[in-house]
Amino acid sequence: MENDFEVIVVGSGMGGSTTAFGLAQKGKKVLVLERGSRIPKESQNWSPEDIFIKKRYRSSELWLDKDDKEFEPGVHYVVGGNTKLYGASLPRFKECDFLELKHREGISPSWPFSYADIEPYYYQAEELYKVHGSEEQDPGGPWRSKPFPYPSIEHEPYVKELADRLSKAGVTPIANSMGIDIGPKGNCIRCNTCDGFICKLDAKSDAEINALNPAIKTGNVELRTDSHVTKIVLTSDGKSVDYLLVSGVSGEYKVRGKKFVISAGAVNTAALLLNSKSDSSPNGIANSSDQVGRNFMKHNNSHILVFDWRRRNNVIFQKTLSFSDWYSDGGEGYPLGTVQLIGKVQGIMMKSVAKMVPLPILNYIAGRSVEFLVMSEDLPSPENRVTVDSNGRIKTTRNPRGVSTHTALMQKTRKILLKIGYKAIFIQEHDISMNAHQCGTTVAGKDPKTSVVDQYCKTHDVDNLYLIDGGFFPSSGAMNPALTIAAQALRVVAESDLAR
Ligand SMILES: Cc1cc2nc3c(=O)[nH]c(=O)nc-3n(C[C@H](O)[C@H](O)[C@H](O)COP(=O)(O)OP(=O)(O)OC[C@H]3O[C@@H](n4cnc5c(N)ncnc54)[C@H](O)[C@@H]3O)c2cc1C
Repeated sequence: MENDFEVIVVGSGMGGSTTAFGLAQKGKKVLVLERGSRIPKESQNWSPEDIFIKKRYRSSELWLDKDDKEFEPGVHYVVGGNTKLYGASLPRFKECDFLELKHREGISPSWPFSYADIEPYYYQAEELYKVHGSEEQDPGGPWRSKPFPYPSIEHEPYVKELADRLSKAGVTPIANSMGIDIGPKGNCIRCNTCDGFICKLDAKSDAEINALNPAIKTGNVELRTDSHVTKIVLTSDGKSVDYLLVSGVSGEYKVRGKKFVISAGAVNTAALLLNSKSDSSPNGIANSSDQVGRNFMKHNNSHILVFDWRRRNNVIFQKTLSFSDWYSDGGEGYPLGTVQLIGKVQGIMMKSVAKMVPLPILNYIAGRSVEFLVMSEDLPSPENRVTVDSNGRIKTTRNPRGVSTHTALMQKTRKILLKIGYKAIFIQEHDISMNAHQCGTTVAGKDPKTSVVDQYCKTHDVDNLYLIDGGFFPSSGAMNPALTIAAQALRVVAESDLAR
């Protein structure tokens, strides 16, 4: 049994590492327990085949879908969590995302705090993760108290020309907000192995490089890798966490601390709470509301690849443009979502979906295509949920909500892309395994009967337990989630009892 630490953080992804960073600045003694290990710098970091075909850095775990069919989830159990492979697109949510919004298929609920409450921490998170952007180039963006800490990343000629064509077709291309160490003094060499890859140069801002390593440097934070937390055990009165049970390299051991933060990612945090049930907490930990695991969301996302044989695309770093013209109103009074360029797809990467197509054909297509992520809001539903079976295995049950919104956004996007000259459109809808944007399983709210945590991610039921990851989102918005998780982590450290 160890009890030297003031705060124990479980998980070193966006939520866990940013929380550890904030606590370290306040002089708190923190232990970070991470089930994975550090990814070594190796040639495979930049190999499309190793990453997209062999799935080298993915967990080998199998989860169950709603029909109890096994699938490989898109999760990465490594130091830095999913941010090691993410796309570093780090936009803020818009002001409307924090308010109750009427969608075609129902209501997107309000958050227990406002955009104004989190705005200062968005800026701090943008500084920490070196976010490049431009308020002039995003006229529909949320208001800001300070300009972006870094200027927007310049478009390459193909994207510049695409921006002109999109403008003429009637939408407003804007600069993507990107967390990259680019610029005269930056480490970025502007390569084509960024989105979905591991950065060998530490130039893509991620939770390990930008938050955890600086936190460890203060001397206040210890990281313990290969440390899988398997159970949360409460004190006999059930009011606080007594210790965590950890499965480490040399067996099982207990860790005690004053306060505990679970940041295992929305799905794993819910699973850990549910797997920790005991005689005094038969529904699992912090679950008097029966909301743990419910309202599982992951956005309604599709990838679009558009092709024009007359136009070669020799772009290297493609992910610099997006458009959000229909974000809060697609023309019929309902929100639709956002459209963003993604990292340039290479022929070999398409093999994971087009297995039978010969590589030379895929290379020909990739040399003349451009790729987008079309993202719309996934509405919360209590029936869409994370559960665990009698062996502790994770099951994610989801019947997508907001499908008509996504269909409308896809139709409008296709129309624009055909209008600007593309000849063929290929679509890949994200299935249950593509859960990169997982959120909403331990929702924040004011009422302990309908939510799991309060506005500062503290559980309503357990005094010294906080849940800081994508799980707290009461609604998913239609923006990439990581910056909002980081900003909330900094807000919790600054304003709540966690650091007192
Ligand atoms: C390919 C890909 C691309 C993406 N692109 C973007 C993007 O461009 N922009 C964006 O905003 N978001 C993006 N995302 C999503 C983003 O990475 C997540 O929103 C973010 O990482 C979530 O942070 P988190 O703290 O909730 O969880 P994670 O970052 O996943 O961290 C959870 C951590 O907890 C650890 N863990 C889990 N269970 C346990 C346990 N029981 N004991 C100990 N440790 C445990 C895990 O190993 C992991 O390190 C992308 C994700 C993927 C996979």
